[in-house]
Amino acid sequence: MTDVTLITGDGIGPEIAEAARRCIDATGAGIKWELVEAGVDVMERLGTPLPDATVESIKKTGIALKAPITTPVGKGYRSINVHLRQTLDLYTCLRPSKSYKGVRSRYSGIDLVVVRENTEDLYAGIEFQKGKDDTAEIISWINKHSKRQIGDDAGISIKPISVKATERIVTYAFDYARKMGRKKVTSVHKANIMKFSDGLWLDVSREVAKQYPDIEFEDRIVDNMCMQLIQKPELYDVIVLPNLYGDIISDLCAGLVGGLGVAPGANIGEKMAIFEATHGSAPKYKGQNKVNPTALILSGVMMLRHMGKMAEAEKLEAAVASVIAEGKNVTYDMKADRDDPTAVGTSQMADAIIEKVKN
Ligand code: NAD
Repeated sequence: MTDVTLITGDGIGPEIAEAARRCIDATGAGIKWELVEAGVDVMERLGTPLPDATVESIKKTGIALKAPITTPVGKGYRSINVHLRQTLDLYTCLRPSKSYKGVRSRYSGIDLVVVRENTEDLYAGIEFQKGKDDTAEIISWINKHSKRQIGDDAGISIKPISVKATERIVTYAFDYARKMGRKKVTSVHKANIMKFSDGLWLDVSREVAKQYPDIEFEDRIVDNMCMQLIQKPELYDVIVLPNLYGDIISDLCAGLVGGLGVAPGANIGEKMAIFEATHGSAPKYKGQNKVNPTALILSGVMMLRHMGKMAEAEKLEAAVASVIAEGKNVTYDMKADRDDPTAVGTSQMADAIIEKVKN
């Protein structure tokens, strides 16, 4: 048996966590789950949205499946999702986008993986507010040392891109491509404009690519990449990007294949990995056994592959694909008419998937 942490989350989290756990167990993957909590429900009981026991469990097992967690607006605590990524140094955000027959989309035949750097760039949180003393100090230093001048009414966000962080994410993308039998890595940037941050990213990408002669390498400027993905998504395979472009392009790619309901994801570091759906906790559907468990189940498929349990992963993905293709035992969001009375609930869709896994 392998120990895996299951973070049940809040809102729709517990329902989809239960559905995903049952589907994964049906593959015979031999997982011993450690159930832990995070989010607004546990906050009300224990006074913290992220109990120590939850973080300790992830550190111990090294692998977690996580249901969504609400980030209350203006209630005093930062996003637990961001906190977990930072404290556990989960430097890779992995987001596959794949077309499944039966999911409504303008496109078919898409099979892309976005590898997003998770720690640097404009998301590093290094920001200076308009009008503050620190900000004035920085503006004055820049105005002294740069040909371009900044007005004293500006706010500033810093964009660090380092050799170390770029090397490890691009290496991750190539290693992933090799492990998963993929053919090409595309590095995305805006090096023509931001020569010292994105330029560095591109130089490092090219250096890393030399160590992988078996994988094709190319680069794209981010604006062109957006157009290419809309016009010819089938040309792309693994796409590696700095944090901000990665955030935007991964949503674009989710849109290409039918949206959040089927978008799995993972945040991965050297020692630990957390697998989670891209969607949030949809609080208005809490406790209704209504929402689609597919994204978290497909995150479970990614987790099984990460653990080297390839046969179990294939079996589960094929079962999900088959249930979606049949279009019968699926939740309301997968029906042509959202009010279709034949739509099934979260746990019934999981039952249908388990039935396929077993046969
Ligand atoms: P959301 O993804 O929770 O919901 C938006 C809408 O998408 C829902 O109202 C619903 O119509 C639909 N939807 C989402 N998941 C679905 C599913 N599985 N099946 C069917 N329909 C589904 O986004 P939001 O409303 O912006 O965020 C709600 C909360 O979730 C916020 O507090 C946000 O911070 C949090 N959030 C958490 C995570 C995470 O835990 N990783 C990610 C995104 C948002």
